[in-house]
Amino acid sequence: MRLSRYFLPVLKENPAEAAIVSHRYMLRAGMIKQASAGIYSWLPLGFKILRKLENIVHEEQQKAGHMPMLMPTVQSADLWRESGRYDDYGDEMLRLTDRHGRDMLYGPTNEEQITDTFRSHVNSYKDLPLTMYQIQWKFRDERRPRFGVMRGREFLMKDGYNFDLTKEDALHAYNRHLVTYLRTYERMGLQAIPMRADGGPIGGDYTHEFLVLAETGESEVFYDSEVTDIKLGQRDVDFDDKAQCQAILEEFTTRYARTDETHDEAIFNEVPEERRRSARGIEVGQIFYFGTKYSESMGAKVVDENQNQVPVHMGSHGIGVSRLLGAIIEASHDDKGIIWPEGVTPFHCGIVNLKQGDDEADAACEDLYAALTKAGLEPLYDDRKERAGGKFATMDLIGLPWRITVGPRGLKNGVVEVTSRKTGESEEMTPEAAINKII
Ligand code: ATP
Ligand code: MG
Ligand code: MG
Ligand code: MG
Repeated sequence: MRLSRYFLPVLKENPAEAAIVSHRYMLRAGMIKQASAGIYSWLPLGFKILRKLENIVHEEQQKAGHMPMLMPTVQSADLWRESGRYDDYGDEMLRLTDRHGRDMLYGPTNEEQITDTFRSHVNSYKDLPLTMYQIQWKFRDERRPRFGVMRGREFLMKDGYNFDLTKEDALHAYNRHLVTYLRTYERMGLQAIPMRADGGPIGGDYTHEFLVLAETGESEVFYDSEVTDIKLGQRDVDFDDKAQCQAILEEFTTRYARTDETHDEAIFNEVPEERRRSARGIEVGQIFYFGTKYSESMGAKVVDENQNQVPVHMGSHGIGVSRLLGAIIEASHDDKGIIWPEGVTPFHCGIVNLKQGDDEADAACEDLYAALTKAGLEPLYDDRKERAGGKFATMDLIGLPWRITVGPRGLKNGVVEVTSRKTGESEEMTPEAAINKII
């Protein structure tokens, strides 16, 4: 992409409405534009990263055999009356009426809708296990939308639902989701710690939230510092292997890590004092096993081996895809701008031409651009006639991992400069060496 043709409305000043760094940088880097409170347009740069996050989520879900699908955003209130949640959900639900006077709503989540799909088509235990998911916009009329995409009213969520014959199978689905979530966050360069959360009115121990530690997080968390040393890494996981998935769940959830909702001072005090931490965190996902709550109320039953009609065991599992953009920035930035982890960067590197219009510099940039593109990378070439300082500031703000700086003086010696966004270190080398370094 050539910057001269890209839509990147960078702001020089800090927007007054942005109270936290991720919101500030997302506005300044022209990634989002507020349409109304908690509702945003995603401009090309923001949208590009959102798509990258979605791709990672899709890949990791599908590795575990979970099937992508798509449900509508506007749902019928009748389904929610069946589960009893139409009245329970309260003011966070955006309620609509169509021209025929039917009650509709903009989905804040989709348990009812997927359960309806399931009961219409599945009758036998032979069709289980089944896990489907979608990445779709949700609407929650939050009391205090704030922090940009972190707490929006309209936001993008991955929501997955499992249907199983037995509790044991459903807990395997729960464990699978835990593993896929850990992989997803690690690929995004994030550490998200599974923490025991509140089961709410349904109760039970089977819910974990995933939290990214950050001072600006809205959740209060308590944990054993050893939990921050555990990584999944590149290990092979067989998602059909119940014992392996269970072992990973235990590895990640045995040490103390809880949100304030389930925090228990007495148990926490058993952790050696030097390892006790209290901090703030951003909730980037939650997994939940809720048994037969929806299958009973909505009649989602299958026949088992003995020809008995039994309600299926279900769980639902969410990732806050649009919130993750903010969380990644909170976790990875400096005073000049964003520092994208390699796995999610919108472009692999930037090319800065110090003297646009100089034949030699232009040609060298074009060659670099062509070679990087040929190698399967996406460079962002700043080909505008701007001052070098302005070009550097833009590159630092949008946070690409590498910058290649090309100018007539270096070219006389056959070199360009390669700068790491993360360390700030620069090195001179031939254009060929620069390409090899970045590939
Ligand atoms: P929160 O506690 O932040 O209100 P939640 O527990 O209500 O979130 P869930 O129902 O668990 O949210 O939804 C799954 C995921 O969707 C959350 O873990 C979070 O990452 C994301 N999410 C929820 N509400 C919002 C929102 N208003 N804006 C952006 N992302 C959200
Ligand atoms: Mg909420
Ligand atoms: Mg929550
Ligand atoms: Mg939650």
